[in-house]
Amino acid sequence: MSTVAVTGSASGIGAATATRLRDAGHRVIGVDLRSADVPADLAATEGRTAAVEGVLDRCDGVLDGLVACAGLGPHVDDVARIAQVNYFGTVAVIDGLFPALRKGTAAAAVVVSSVASTHLKWEENPLTEAIETGDESLIAEAVAAGGDYRGQFAYAAGKNALTVAVRRRAAEWGAAGVRLNTVAPGSVDTPLLAATAEDPRYGEAIRGFTAPIPRHGRPDEIAALACYLLGPDAGFVHGAQFVVDGGIDALLRPTVF
Ligand code: NAD
Repeated sequence: MSTVAVTGSASGIGAATATRLRDAGHRVIGVDLRSADVPADLAATEGRTAAVEGVLDRCDGVLDGLVACAGLGPHVDDVARIAQVNYFGTVAVIDGLFPALRKGTAAAAVVVSSVASTHLKWEENPLTEAIETGDESLIAEAVAAGGDYRGQFAYAAGKNALTVAVRRRAAEWGAAGVRLNTVAPGSVDTPLLAATAEDPRYGEAIRGFTAPIPRHGRPDEIAALACYLLGPDAGFVHGAQFVVDGGIDALLRPTVF
């Protein structure tokens, strides 16, 4: 049995991942706003510290796996909070738990990014100054150019930065014996997608778009990949991003990969 921390464990992909891990006999330490072993708000520094310390307490400083799922969708009105949770909160948790993962057995981490991470290039990412300075008060203005769609801009930019952050850690984490990968889902049936689909700005696009596999993904289909990436069969898989979107990326960008 290994010990795995899962953020966003109370709902959607995180809950499906926690269930799958527990069913396979692993010990799960869930982190979420509520209904979790470690209640914590990853939008702010205190909550991030509480999340890391809460997990470290429960695992005695030794962790075999981490799945970072907690996140907000583009429909959330507080656009700064989208990037605060999806980028800054996630990076704080993976970095904060890295020392514990180094002590784990065949340790690995999976970060849930999004296919939206591919919607802009890093060179065009409006969050770079906020990221380089650590000044989260810059986020709202940085994404204001998105106008009515600044939530989507904050979401895509935050996820783009998150995938870059993972790839930039590949050398250090690999040398430390901890594998780290991202999963980039397309539309997956969760409360986050339902809320985005109800938003007048995004609903039509979600309802009207048909992927080559003409349905939304199921949370457990993302959880299955996350669990594979944590496990021994993925021993040489590191620093990679796996798009799981029913073929939308291939449909829209067949020559870009
Ligand atoms: P969800 O809303 O079902 O679950 C997200 C979880 O994150 C919730 O339990 C929520 O309470 C938690 N969370 C939100 N803000 C938090 C905070 N400040 N502190 C701690 N926990 C917080 O959504 P989901 O679809 O399962 O999303 C999981 C991840 O998958 C997210 O990172 C999301 O961006 C990503 N994703 C989802 C989709 C999709 O279509 N559902 C697509 C691409 C990527």
